[in-house]
Amino acid sequence: MENTFTSGLISLQEALNKMLSQTSPLTQAKTEWLPLTESAGRITASAVRSPVYVPPFDNSAMDGYAIRSAEYREDAVFTVAGKAFAGAPFNGEWPAGSCIRIMTGAPVPSGADAVIMQEEAEKTDAGVRFTVPVEKGQNIRLIGDDIRQGQEVLAAGVRLGVAELPLLASLGVEKVEVNRRLKVAVFSTGDELQPVGTPLEEGQIYDTNRFAVHLMLDQLGCEVLDLGIIRDDPAALRQAFQQADNYADLVISSGGVSVGEADYTKSMLDEIGQIGFWKLAIKPGKPFAFGKLNNAWFCGLPGNPVSAVLTFYQLVQPLIARLSSHTDWRLPPRLRARAASNFKKTPGRLDFQRAVFVHNAQGELEARTTGSQGSHVFSSYSLANGFVVLERERGDVAVGEWVDVEPFNALLKG
Ligand code: AMP
Ligand code: MG
Repeated sequence: MENTFTSGLISLQEALNKMLSQTSPLTQAKTEWLPLTESAGRITASAVRSPVYVPPFDNSAMDGYAIRSAEYREDAVFTVAGKAFAGAPFNGEWPAGSCIRIMTGAPVPSGADAVIMQEEAEKTDAGVRFTVPVEKGQNIRLIGDDIRQGQEVLAAGVRLGVAELPLLASLGVEKVEVNRRLKVAVFSTGDELQPVGTPLEEGQIYDTNRFAVHLMLDQLGCEVLDLGIIRDDPAALRQAFQQADNYADLVISSGGVSVGEADYTKSMLDEIGQIGFWKLAIKPGKPFAFGKLNNAWFCGLPGNPVSAVLTFYQLVQPLIARLSSHTDWRLPPRLRARAASNFKKTPGRLDFQRAVFVHNAQGELEARTTGSQGSHVFSSYSLANGFVVLERERGDVAVGEWVDVEPFNALLKG
């Protein structure tokens, strides 16, 4: 139900749906083949199939003795006819009634169909006797029982990282086909902003947003054009938007999308693009702009740094996944935790409060606020490991109540 708190606001999900329904993948049209060492962070353009069987040969799962299982008798003594080590197979002849000493990972000698672990072997002067009945196939890891040759091991649209690249290395894959990187232009707007390294004059502040956005774009594997700080001046803004639009698939600015007097971004965009200016029903981060310039997509983040990062995280991150054909992208699943501190909340918007969660002595997940939740208070990000997500209609939360928590992904806590 819309009420006085929510009229004119659009929900996060509605905003995301609008963004995703208008856009489609851009980067899979141009692909390249890269060696594994250069493909970290890139998105697979095609499925990767295994060129080999894993394991590549039948091998022993135990240190012990390989035999022909049909020759097993409870009282039989086997002479030891040779040895097979990992990396040093046994290829000789082995007479009937003999066994081969074998180590874990060693190829099973031709003809052998069972390995008996050494704990079940009894050494005698004449050879070894096996104390436990033997079954055909025991303790042998068969060729291809993990991965078959030609089997798909990674789908298209997967981001290559520590869970994927070592797998490809284990298969001897040398090169992988990846999509081109998404090109993103970024700038900050505001007469008050200064870059790090410049002393601040009265009324000035350092530019946090461009730094944060650039960093997140790097982590997402984008190719970034950083256009710096753009003054609140129509001509400068027009030029920045045109340059950004010429270069990029996606343009991201921050500031100037609310309704302040110096917010030229809004009027400029009305001139050069088809942009929606939204009031999101989330906190922090109310003003947000999305739409299309001549060539590129555009996201206008709020000026306050915490809002800028949150809207980037919740909206721009999935958009970038969509545009860069990263089909298996998702945020970490939300969990339930017990409030270990009070959380202040006014009904009306979905609240993302920075919090730290840990398991308490009883093994229960507990969430504690990291302090002031002002949209300019960046320090509470650095103390947090996730968001406490409080429903729109909810009011203040007391200690002991259940809350939803959303752990940060590696973009925020890598
Ligand atoms: P605006 O939406 O441009 O009115 O900005 C809202 C608030 O965010 C103001 O207090 C700005 O000074 C601040 N702000 C805007 N851009 C940045 C930035 N890049 N870094 C830090 N603070 C900013
Ligand atoms: Mg501004």
